[in-house]
Amino acid sequence: MSALILRNPATEAVVAELPHATVEDMDAAIVRAAAAGDAWRTVSPADRNRLLRRFADTVAAHADELAELETRNMGMPIGSSRWCANAVADTLHYFAGAVEKHAGSTIPVAGGVDMTFHEPLGVVGLITPWNFPMLIASWKLGPALAAGNTVVLKPAEITPLTSIRLGELALEAGLPEGVLNVVVGPGSTVGWRLVEHPLVRKVAFTGSTVVGKRLMQGCADQVKRLTLELGGKSANIVFADADLEKAAAAAPGAVFDNSGQDCCSRSRVLVQRSVFDEFLEKFVAAAAAWKVGDPMDTATAMGPLVTADHLARVLAYSRDLQPVFTGEVPDGPGYWHPVMIAVADDMSPVACREEIFGPVAMVIPFDDEADAVRICNDSEYGLSGSVWTRDGARALRVVRAMEAGTISVNSNSSVRYATPFGGFKQSGLGREHSMHVLDHYTELKNVFISTE
Ligand code: NAD
Repeated sequence: MSALILRNPATEAVVAELPHATVEDMDAAIVRAAAAGDAWRTVSPADRNRLLRRFADTVAAHADELAELETRNMGMPIGSSRWCANAVADTLHYFAGAVEKHAGSTIPVAGGVDMTFHEPLGVVGLITPWNFPMLIASWKLGPALAAGNTVVLKPAEITPLTSIRLGELALEAGLPEGVLNVVVGPGSTVGWRLVEHPLVRKVAFTGSTVVGKRLMQGCADQVKRLTLELGGKSANIVFADADLEKAAAAAPGAVFDNSGQDCCSRSRVLVQRSVFDEFLEKFVAAAAAWKVGDPMDTATAMGPLVTADHLARVLAYSRDLQPVFTGEVPDGPGYWHPVMIAVADDMSPVACREEIFGPVAMVIPFDDEADAVRICNDSEYGLSGSVWTRDGARALRVVRAMEAGTISVNSNSSVRYATPFGGFKQSGLGREHSMHVLDHYTELKNVFISTE
């Protein structure tokens, strides 16, 4: 059994030394989840609702502890970690309530009665990334468990601590043994076993597009259900008629939040040419006020990147740029990358095309509405995006033309548990959140009963 040393990205101090599970451990967890399946799927809806609410309340009662763990493991500012911990509880509450609302239907037919049922799938494998570890785990745990499935959660091996704690809290809240299993190990071996194992009926994955494609190929063999939440290169489109103060004040948060390690990061800022210089000046001023430093300080807006390896990956993009603004980073240890703003004439630089997953904004001019839509859609990704304008009709025309799944107008907002979230094109397959996601964690069964 190999071990992984987890370091605090802000200090490089060792946070934990963790044994890695083996493929055999994963097999045992899958078998445990399968064995718990019958008991969980037959828990009455009201009791399943109650148990999930108790899980949510237990998470809320441990929100500070979870937040601190997340910040020490992945470097997210403590204010964001606290927000995430409470959002985990809210997400679990929402899906607890959904247990009794995800109803089938009756359909008018000749000669009898026709009805549909949403049946649980069985064992579901949840594979999550390192950028919002506990939050993204909850996006999958909530609907998977509410729908009557049992789960094996495989968190990113570099940020597993809050997922492990969620597993403990679920037991503390009274979820039966075997319903929620957490296995920590490398993706290519232990994670891949969820793709291969015949007892696993579905894989729900959030991570890179490269790995998502591999999983899609792997799942083909058993026609295994698969949902994918993948990468992004989203556009923040600022028209000349926008409230420029408001758009510029929001722009740093749209791209530098979580050190840019955010699939929804609006890392392409598209600005109408007639206000380009004026907006850029305001954006740079707002970025200069962005406080980078100790993630345990509640005043901090941005912490370090997650690991030394990831810092090297981001630097490989940013060192070729000629930024118009580069922020400050703390001296001393830690995996720090400054906030950075660069200008591009068009979409040709690689930094405009590829997901950097760091605090780097590319600002690109456009001429008119059609030009803005053309540049926005000139990407293999289509996850999120924003439009800033005071013209309501324009906002509607542009959002309908954008090839992206999760869009906001005069706001950076992307994710709410009650509204569908997901991507077009190579940003994903399926949706998270809202009642829609429950269809991804159930099979639709149709039954005809003759009355003749
Ligand atoms: P990653 O693809 O490297 O890893 C994600 C998870 O997959 C990890 O748990 C990893 O261990 C596992 N994994 C890796 N190879 C595997 C394999 N062969 N079989 C099974 N599991 C495997 O991604 P990451 O670096 O952890 O996360 C960053 C990426 O996630 C970015 O591209 C980001 O855009 C994306 N992301 C997307 C969303 C979304 O909702 N669309 C949200 C957050 C992050």
